[in-house]
Amino acid sequence: MAKQWVYRYDEVQRAEKAAGDWDGVRALLGGKGANLADMTRLELPVPPGFVITTEACNAYLEQGEKFPQGMWEQVEKALAEIEKQAGKKFGDPANPLLVSCRSGAKFSMPGMMDTVLNIGLNDETARGMVGLTGDERFVYDAYRRLVQMFGSVVMGVPDEPNPFEEVLTEYRKAKGVESDSELGAQDWREITEKFKQIVRKHTRRDFPSDPKEQLRLAIEAVFKSWNGKRAIDYRNAAGIPHDLGTGVNIVTMVFGNMGMDSGTGVSTTRNISTGENLIEGDYLLNAQGEDVVAGTRKTKPIAELKGEMPESFAELEQISQRLEKHYREVQDVEWTIEHSKLWMLQTRDSKRTAQAAVRIAVELAEEGLISREEAVSRVKPDQVDFFLHPQFDLRVMKAASEQGRLLATGLNVSPGAAVGQIALDADLAEKWAKEDGRKVIMVRPETKPDDVHGMLAAQGILTSRGGRTSHAALVARQFGKPAVVGCAALDIDLDKRQISVDGRKINEGEWVSIDGTRGEVYLGQLETMIPDFKDPFLLKILAWADGFRRLGVWANADYPRDAQRARDYGAEGIGLCRTEHMFFEQERLPLVQQMILAKTDKERGEALRELLPFQRSDFEGLFRAMDGLPVIIRLIDPPLHEFLPGHDELLVDVTRLRLTGDDPKRLAEQEGMLSAVEGMREANPMLGLRGVRLGIHMPQVTEMQVRAIMEAACKVAKDGIDVHPEVMIPLTSHVNELRVQQEALVRVAEQVMQEQGLKVDYKFGTMIEIPRAALTAGEIAEYAQFFSFGTNDLTQTTYGISRDDAEKGFLVEYIDKGILPENPFQTIDPDGVGRLMELATREGRKRRPDLEVGICGEHGGDPKSIHLCHGYGLNYVSCSPFRVPVARLAAAHAALEVAGVDKD
Ligand code: PEP
Ligand code: MG
Repeated sequence: MAKQWVYRYDEVQRAEKAAGDWDGVRALLGGKGANLADMTRLELPVPPGFVITTEACNAYLEQGEKFPQGMWEQVEKALAEIEKQAGKKFGDPANPLLVSCRSGAKFSMPGMMDTVLNIGLNDETARGMVGLTGDERFVYDAYRRLVQMFGSVVMGVPDEPNPFEEVLTEYRKAKGVESDSELGAQDWREITEKFKQIVRKHTRRDFPSDPKEQLRLAIEAVFKSWNGKRAIDYRNAAGIPHDLGTGVNIVTMVFGNMGMDSGTGVSTTRNISTGENLIEGDYLLNAQGEDVVAGTRKTKPIAELKGEMPESFAELEQISQRLEKHYREVQDVEWTIEHSKLWMLQTRDSKRTAQAAVRIAVELAEEGLISREEAVSRVKPDQVDFFLHPQFDLRVMKAASEQGRLLATGLNVSPGAAVGQIALDADLAEKWAKEDGRKVIMVRPETKPDDVHGMLAAQGILTSRGGRTSHAALVARQFGKPAVVGCAALDIDLDKRQISVDGRKINEGEWVSIDGTRGEVYLGQLETMIPDFKDPFLLKILAWADGFRRLGVWANADYPRDAQRARDYGAEGIGLCRTEHMFFEQERLPLVQQMILAKTDKERGEALRELLPFQRSDFEGLFRAMDGLPVIIRLIDPPLHEFLPGHDELLVDVTRLRLTGDDPKRLAEQEGMLSAVEGMREANPMLGLRGVRLGIHMPQVTEMQVRAIMEAACKVAKDGIDVHPEVMIPLTSHVNELRVQQEALVRVAEQVMQEQGLKVDYKFGTMIEIPRAALTAGEIAEYAQFFSFGTNDLTQTTYGISRDDAEKGFLVEYIDKGILPENPFQTIDPDGVGRLMELATREGRKRRPDLEVGICGEHGGDPKSIHLCHGYGLNYVSCSPFRVPVARLAAAHAALEVAGVDKD
């Protein structure tokens, strides 16, 4: 038997047999055709019709634009069948059947491919229809629409300028009316003739009067539109494969413009803005579908249909419920009422806002339509993230960009929207924000640890340099500040206090709006809205997610208030407290500098003794906030020069002081500082004296830190706090480093407990952030009771790519060119870094079966990386407090996916 290229809507079973399953039916018939066939099977009112398969489309395009053998005969046969069902005949002036011809691919590509309505009209059938309907105005309006659409879509009449629209404008002017609906029968008759002339003039061919010819050409046009530029661009952007082909739906026309007992509308089975379980949509009486979509006439809210056409409304409501039950998902439907009879023209899963997605998932589960596992799987991490940050409305952004206010784009490193006045340094940002109550966006080439006060005071952070793990990005994420970094188009002139983008100058103090979710920078103040994290539906879906996940979710937090926030968001521990961040606080930095610059052990000891109470009180706060949960505190990690003034600035200052001779005392001080900084200078500080190396080289610092940790732990334990400190040694590469450092520090810990007269439950462990440490994890686990993957450094050292510089340069180019599939600083590179993690976890646990393994690099908050961590068997992921809810959901997704729970 010849291949079946055509399926009538009442042949869905055959399609299922041929395609295997429902996904196969959607691939074969396209989403629209499959669902129309499915609705026909449900005995819902679908106009008779059929679909030409996507295989026919592919065959047509492959065979040099020729219908595959047997296809046209099957079309004619199906047409004869729908003639019978509709009780009308295609091309018969006495009782003409009109059909539409619409594309429909497996995945919806709205507006990307072609549609022709009212096929079957010509001078004779038009006359016949006038006789049948008595409505000449309606018939010639339909006829001119056919000529217009056919002329543009099938015959290629150019649309800029659009000659058809020019005629319509001319007529409206001549008749003194505002809208087409006010034109009369005679006008439409004349316009139809004019449209035919336009077709002849532009294409040197006549509009075909033979309905079969119209149909044939329209089908070809839809097939060809699969390879039209817009369709290809859309597929590229949406990641839809190019070899799927489109189905072509030929459907009996029904008309919503046959008087006040007719109408047409689009609706969703629930409110897709809020998720509320109420039909939502718009309609128009006496109108065609395109009038509703085009927005040329003011539509009415669906609630009014209840008053205007109670029976149709009740039927629509009932059909909506059936469709939801059937598809187990909210539907977006198109329908037409012709002389009080409701017809369904399309149904598909509807798009929705983040709030609606969460509420709908919860309520569908509570109504028993889907399982809780499916509900959790259906909510996307981005949709949870949405609730945690102020946002710009998409419409507001679109309008701003149309007004030319989109200034530049950069890396979207910390989500949310922020609006403020540009401040070009941290002190000013803080002053404006704190003293003057102004909203500020701190704009810098890049940020340093001593800029943190300005960053905290600002609404958001914008830098022209730096990558995803730059200081600005780390701090912004940690504190939930929206940030765009690496925005190379910004030229920041700190002297003129001005930034410029492509020659456009913007002064300090002017307003900008940044969108850290998309990485965009706008000029002026865009309106923001704040979603509610306490949304009961969100809390419920996250609680369900917690029941499914295996990975723990901890947080990176340096201060008690962040720890508290993390806990409120569901964190089950602190995976990383970067102690050095505390050293930058105003009253501590001079002590830290004194400690670094000390010439004798005694001097150093004095500075450290003064620092100790600060650290102790920081840790106390953290332990109290995390009562009952583990807290990992990392010992000092960065190279010491980060705590001292910059070399170049010092050099400039010293030179100036020498030249002016103004201030000999300050000159002597600055000279001292410069020579200290020069003495410590390293060509590659990130590979230099930092981490455990520093702890070994200058043991007093880490000893002070451990003392502070243990004293704080004993103190809070005495107050009844259930405390679990875990001391983390950074940057280990050889087991001997860990052994030497850990043995010295365990002695301090034990001594403190002896002094305090009590024991607390503590652990020592290390970061795994150097490939050598991963490769020798078995030896390292001899000492370490826990591992935490520092994937920022581990990625840097595995790739040999600087984490601070890469994302502003060649790495972006690599990703654009597809040389790297993803940014390895954002998503764990599974083939390199990931393999090291897997190996280290395995080898480490072999040596120490109860080894606790986690991740505290930025990847810990990235859903794809969380999936990988689940697969490697980690105990937990640790991320910024603001990513905790997202990580809870992503960890559940990973577990459910492994267990085989599908999203649909
Ligand atoms: C890391 O390297 O992944 C890490 C968490 O440490 P830091 O970013 O502080 O170097
Ligand atoms: Mg690190």
